[in-house]
Amino acid sequence: MRNPTKKIYVRNVPIGGDSPIAIQSMTNVSVTDVEATLAQIEQCAANGCDIMRIAVPNAECAKAFAEVRRRTNVPLVADIHFDYRLALAAIEAGADKIRINPGNMPLPQLDKVTDCAKANGIPIRIGVNAGSADRRAMSVEGRVKAMCDSLAKYVERFEERGFYDIVLSVKSTDVRETVAANRLAAKLGYPIHMGVTEAGLLRQGLVKNSIAIGSLLLEGIGDTVRVSLTSDPVDEVRAAKDMLVSLGLKKGVTFVSCPKCGRCSIDLENVAAQIYDYVKDIDKNIKIAVMGCEVNGPGECSDADLGMAGANGKYVFFKHGKRYKTVSAQDAAEQFKREIDLITNVD
Ligand code: SF4
Repeated sequence: MRNPTKKIYVRNVPIGGDSPIAIQSMTNVSVTDVEATLAQIEQCAANGCDIMRIAVPNAECAKAFAEVRRRTNVPLVADIHFDYRLALAAIEAGADKIRINPGNMPLPQLDKVTDCAKANGIPIRIGVNAGSADRRAMSVEGRVKAMCDSLAKYVERFEERGFYDIVLSVKSTDVRETVAANRLAAKLGYPIHMGVTEAGLLRQGLVKNSIAIGSLLLEGIGDTVRVSLTSDPVDEVRAAKDMLVSLGLKKGVTFVSCPKCGRCSIDLENVAAQIYDYVKDIDKNIKIAVMGCEVNGPGECSDADLGMAGANGKYVFFKHGKRYKTVSAQDAAEQFKREIDLITNVD
């Protein structure tokens, strides 16, 4: 069951309550390069990103943020640290949400940001990271408690000012710590933004994020995700999308291909890669299987909406559990794509 949270809006994107899990990413170029920033935003949006975050570290960036805002309709979050005036400038520039770490902003200044966000009807994400806790001085439990206590304290401060459009995040570079902290934070009743912070390069980052975000989503916790990676932001978006599709939380293609073994006599990797590339953006709940031989191939293909199993220079095609066609390995990928067109354009 989904953890109950308040529903808030980031421009036209709902977060929390019964809303779909929103996908976020962050630009990794300076916003002063407006064209590069816009290009990243549009690429991410085209790949399924719902909300983009932009770092606003100085006044020049706040000015550039305003220019970016004017030129895209994608919901934009301004990421602010230390200087409350940048938060006010970003709100004035049309930010749809502000992300702050309240720990690095004095409370009277935080109040000014809260009041400004309230007056402009936009939410604030309170982001607390384990990095701010003294790692050597505390146990994992101690850090988790410290992060969540800090979060609760700020929530209380916001509520005292009549501000409730809050998103929470508690992140750590450690998977177990992230999961434990989010379980605690979920009790506060506000939408949760999830991810493992500074998760690393592509492979390790994907693994850490998948374990943490996936575990929490399976428990019904989490309302928006960012798969933080030292990589292209589009990789973050695609990973988040795959995660949500895998958990049945988003429409999309379940793609099955076998790992290949000594029984395989066909060029499976090449065909599987071509077919995956063809189906990866289809937003329909279908299962596609590409298998390497006659041992497990027919079984797995029979379970798919469309499947192909190869052996001895040929592929057998399966549709909705039934074997219906045999084609030469040479033509198989192209013919299979036409079959995909047929089943995906039916309705
Ligand atoms: S389907 Fe065939 S080729 Fe693929 S892993 Fe299984 S036995 Fe090996």
